[in-house]
Amino acid sequence: MQIQTHSLLSPAPGTQRELVSLHYGQPGQGPKVYIQASLHADELPGMLTAWHLRRQLDALDAAGQISGEIVLVPMANPIGLAQWLLQGHLGRFELLSGENFNRHYPDQIEAAARAAEPELGADPARNVAVLRRELKKAVLAQPVDTELQSLRRTLMGLSCDADVVLDLHCDAQAVLHLYCETPAADLCDPLARFLGSRVTLLATDSGDNPFDEACSQVWWKWQRHFGDRFPIPQACLSVTVELRGQQDVEHALAEQDAANILDYLRWRGALAGEAKPVPPAQGDARPLAGSMPIKSPVGGVLTFLRQPGEEVREGEVLAHVIDPVTARLTELKSPVDGLLFARDNLRFVTAGARVAKVAGLNALRSGKLLGA
Ligand SMILES: [Zn+2]
Repeated sequence: MQIQTHSLLSPAPGTQRELVSLHYGQPGQGPKVYIQASLHADELPGMLTAWHLRRQLDALDAAGQISGEIVLVPMANPIGLAQWLLQGHLGRFELLSGENFNRHYPDQIEAAARAAEPELGADPARNVAVLRRELKKAVLAQPVDTELQSLRRTLMGLSCDADVVLDLHCDAQAVLHLYCETPAADLCDPLARFLGSRVTLLATDSGDNPFDEACSQVWWKWQRHFGDRFPIPQACLSVTVELRGQQDVEHALAEQDAANILDYLRWRGALAGEAKPVPPAQGDARPLAGSMPIKSPVGGVLTFLRQPGEEVREGEVLAHVIDPVTARLTELKSPVDGLLFARDNLRFVTAGARVAKVAGLNALRSGKLLGA
């Protein structure tokens, strides 16, 4: 295993952060897998899972069992890791710019297409190799002005030529679920089964270029760009893996999640040895546009009546919001039949707050589909 250290752009004299990546196996040997943890720096289940992955990968490496290339970034956001205010960790948005750390990843689709076109032909595997090479070149050549942009460029440079990208996040309180682009839905199904995911939320270009979509969208956008002229497969499965809730940072869960990821990687050919069969599904895939936010119209004390992972019916009361001054009780109801897969971990809400999410079967929303 090789450890690489990537210096980020220095935001001020005397200040320099670095990103560390661990490299197993050989480039060009078998599939390339990229895994990063805690892009939202205060979402820690992935960081613990990465520690278990590292221990198990070290042992597999020593035994000569790495048959692909595996890049592990055990802590993807050194900027967010340092953002503390009055004893509280604020890891979702950069405090300097207000930007979400998981939005606005670079789009070099046109530039890479232009550079690759003279070499494209009838062989899909050759087309994939040429496009990956030109994409990586374009990503790394992009000028950056800020530390955050340099972090995004570094992460994209490490991941943009991978066959499989796993971005380990978590929700506030949730069951294990995935986000994936619709053109990669079939590729995602075995991963969802190995991970025991309860629901995969599918969208095509949900808006604002989150990290996972920046890695996968190049392929279906190149398919559209080149049309019938050159065969371009969906050569990257990129998935946001939501490892339950923020407090679910426990060895037993993380060790199992790491083992499940490695079982998938063995099935995918990145690890040597006989793969386990694909397990039965513990959930299904649904449109992200059918994931309905439950909003509170008033402020007050929030108490839930239902747990993450429960199937709920349209009109069913999921939570109460209580005004302590007037004693008024407001019921928050599910707008659809579906899976209550995530809920907030705060217990006082302000008017308009989104406090839970129910995944229904039908696409009902449009526009930008991700929350802040
Ligand atoms: Zn996150």
